[in-house]
Amino acid sequence: MRADTPVQYLKGVGPKTAEKFAKLGVATVEDLLGLYPRRYVDYSNPAPVAAAPFDTDTVVKATVYSKKGAVRLPGGRTMIQVLAGDDSAALTLTWFNTRYTPDSLLAGAEYFFEGRVRGTLTRREMANPTVRTPAQVEKTPLAPVYPQTEGLGSGQIARCVARALEEAQPLAEFLPPEYLARFKLPGRWQAVRDIHRPASLAAAQAARRRLVFDELFLLQLGLGLLRSRGAAAAGAPMAPVDLGPFWASLPFSPTGAQRRAAGEICADLAGSAPMNRLLQGDVGSGKTLVAAAAVYTAMKNGWQSALMAPTEILATQHAETLHKLLAPFGGRVVLLTGGMKAAARKAALAAIAAGEADLVVGTHAVIGAGVAFQALGLAVVDEQHRFGVRQRGLLADKAAEPHVLVMSATPIPRTLGLLLYGDLDISVLDELPPGRQPVKTYAVGSEKRKAMYGFLEKQIAAGRQVYIVCPRVEEGDGGDELAAVTTYYDQVARPLLPGRRVGLMHGRLKAKEKAAVMADFQAGRLDALVSTTVIEVGVDVPGATVMVIENAERYGLSALHQLRGRVGRGAAESFCILVSDHGGEAVRQRLRFICSTQDGFAIAKYDLEHRGPGDFFGDRQHGLPTLQLASLTADTRTLEAAHASAGELLAADPALAAPEHRALAAQVQRLFGRTTFN
Ligand code: ADP
Ligand code: MG
Repeated sequence: MRADTPVQYLKGVGPKTAEKFAKLGVATVEDLLGLYPRRYVDYSNPAPVAAAPFDTDTVVKATVYSKKGAVRLPGGRTMIQVLAGDDSAALTLTWFNTRYTPDSLLAGAEYFFEGRVRGTLTRREMANPTVRTPAQVEKTPLAPVYPQTEGLGSGQIARCVARALEEAQPLAEFLPPEYLARFKLPGRWQAVRDIHRPASLAAAQAARRRLVFDELFLLQLGLGLLRSRGAAAAGAPMAPVDLGPFWASLPFSPTGAQRRAAGEICADLAGSAPMNRLLQGDVGSGKTLVAAAAVYTAMKNGWQSALMAPTEILATQHAETLHKLLAPFGGRVVLLTGGMKAAARKAALAAIAAGEADLVVGTHAVIGAGVAFQALGLAVVDEQHRFGVRQRGLLADKAAEPHVLVMSATPIPRTLGLLLYGDLDISVLDELPPGRQPVKTYAVGSEKRKAMYGFLEKQIAAGRQVYIVCPRVEEGDGGDELAAVTTYYDQVARPLLPGRRVGLMHGRLKAKEKAAVMADFQAGRLDALVSTTVIEVGVDVPGATVMVIENAERYGLSALHQLRGRVGRGAAESFCILVSDHGGEAVRQRLRFICSTQDGFAIAKYDLEHRGPGDFFGDRQHGLPTLQLASLTADTRTLEAAHASAGELLAADPALAAPEHRALAAQVQRLFGRTTFN
């Protein structure tokens, strides 16, 4: 059977099962063999029944003494019990609603049983154990456990994989032999067999090392290919510009870090290759100003710029800020939002096409579709972790090869940066504007809510403003977000802040309404703003000094840090209060951690280590293939090796076109699915 044979031609895989596999992205035998086990159950070392710990998955080896007939339970379930035991103790095995497994057991024979032991000191039992024969255990002492999803159980996947291993032709090697030698990796077929049915833990580890390398290497190659798309083309050519007049026009002086970053960016703009730079700076470090300096440079060279923000609120705010910064130099800023009236939109589009607009600000959705620039030279993407690799590509398609600047407050650990961007250049704003004070952060239980509102009242009386971020509604809670935020507004926030002007902000408001609420808050016409996390990113209201976050346990630390970054922007002392009744130790530890530090980098690292990259990004939109085996924190050395190797290989064969790299190119394409590389 060939590797590309569809799974339904495997014996035992019907159309129904094939459909479930399809949902996992498994179409062929090769795909199936690429579903790796999550862990193994070690049958080689069974515990004596008497010594088996309670309520823990355990393997025991026991002889079957006798079987009892099936019993029908109230409610229609059937139960079959089997008496078994070893030298140390007796064990009652119980199966519900299945005859198949207990029927297959022979009295007097020995078996391995895996499950949780329950009962009392004198009576031990195991319900629905997994059974394996000594012959099976001898052949595969480590039984693979697969992640169960899409209605496919681990056992079912294991059976299909076993079939495939027996019937498939060995999967062809695709790594160039020198890598196998250099990194001491087992061959592909060996690794695939060993990851599914290792003869020993050492074999499983060697297999894992090889397959982790594969994942990361193919990923780096794919990203490398994406990045080099059209890299031969020059970026929009720009002459160096003196930023002196721009800096001089500001009401404050730029920080040293801002000057340095702007210098690096302007050097890129004046270079021959298109810029691909990440501007990384903690919340409040003043990234917008650096972006404005870049736009200023492009404008002085006669090029248009685009700035994409993740939310409309932020886009609107950026348009205002940049208008103020650029208008003194004759710069014209155009805002494009989804909620614009048709006529206004038409006028904006005309100004963009005619080259009258020097800067277009909008959300990525807005700039992405049907916007024709006269001469787009620079694209700035704010808060890039919200954007996917694909969206970045889409933007690059707007113009031959614009310079791209992505800005992020969520510090991206080096491993993740490598993974996402390969050799993206990075500028860091490691200095906050002067006068900033750390935001005092506290975690409290909801029994403190009244007292907390007393504190908010005092702050408001002193002329400050407060944000209150509402309980987040999660799928499966049953409620909807709108109901949750309005209930909180009506029943908690307003009664507890009597006589104060309290605004309400949520995602369901029309763009105009959002803008009006935001403008009121910004202008100080509101004392408090009750909001969902639509205010999470970027919003800048210097008069606000308190950020309250209800249900703080529902957020990743990076998200909490972003929210906290909404305050502490003025000179006044600022506070962040995390409200949570969640008693779990892990949650409490996380909240204690963020209370103890203001360092965004440390926070991102903590998140990455404790929650994984998927959570780090908040969603699956990043457009990266999922990594099955590789861990971004544990496999950093392999990642570096894969990164270096991919760079080397692409330098020698930039399009992976050499015949000896054809198999490799096919694997890259398989990993990236529908993404095209040319
Ligand atoms: P972020 O890096 O989080 O995007 P912003 O660009 O929103 O930060 O800037 C935060 C605030 O700091 C804004 O109110 C901005 O006007 C102010 N700011 C930026 N640079 C300076 C500076 N050099 N000196 C004083 N205030 C500054
Ligand atoms: Mg910002």
